[in-house]
Amino acid sequence: MTILYELGDNLYVNLTNRCNCRCVFCLRNNSDHVQDTDSLWLEHEPTVEEVLEEAKKFDFSQYREIVFCGYGEPTLRLDDLLTIAETWKQESPSLIIRINTNGLSDLQYQTDTAKKMAGIIDKVSISLNASEKKHYFELTRSSFGVDSFDGLLTFARHCREYGISVRFSIVDLLPEQEIRECKAISEKLSVPLKIRVYEPKE
Ligand code: SF4
Repeated sequence: MTILYELGDNLYVNLTNRCNCRCVFCLRNNSDHVQDTDSLWLEHEPTVEEVLEEAKKFDFSQYREIVFCGYGEPTLRLDDLLTIAETWKQESPSLIIRINTNGLSDLQYQTDTAKKMAGIIDKVSISLNASEKKHYFELTRSSFGVDSFDGLLTFARHCREYGISVRFSIVDLLPEQEIRECKAISEKLSVPLKIRVYEPKE
């Protein structure tokens, strides 16, 4: 079972296969891995203790960032994620810890989740996916309905206000007009936008 996996210079943490979206483009619809990893489907969700034990096999100083990404939405295990991250931070204060998320954790928990992350999580990367709420909902089929996009934007703003290095990400497959509108959102919220080159996995 793959709990931790290397991609590029980073070490990724796979806490859950659950997600509160059903994105039409989710690579999990047609695949079980990312690049050349083993299957990322978990036999069970690893406990905090299992993750900490597994991490002892890795030399964290070799990695640029430790990234909670999962093959699912990592914030569905937010408390466990923060416990693990805090433990690693105490052991290695210079460690850079990132969460790759759909940005819907405020809606999941009905609270200000960026506040809980502040001081433990250094970076948050949020999949923006679209430039307006209706299209976002069509693409992600989020459990929280058509207003999910607003919740995502609020979470991003809170991350910035709490001093977390936050960015939006989109893929370069979006139409030019949509990319322009995503850039406008990024500028309005002072949250940088990363435009990733789309890489088909299969
Ligand atoms: S948020 Fe991510 S993991 Fe969840 S369905 Fe969408 S692409 Fe897949």
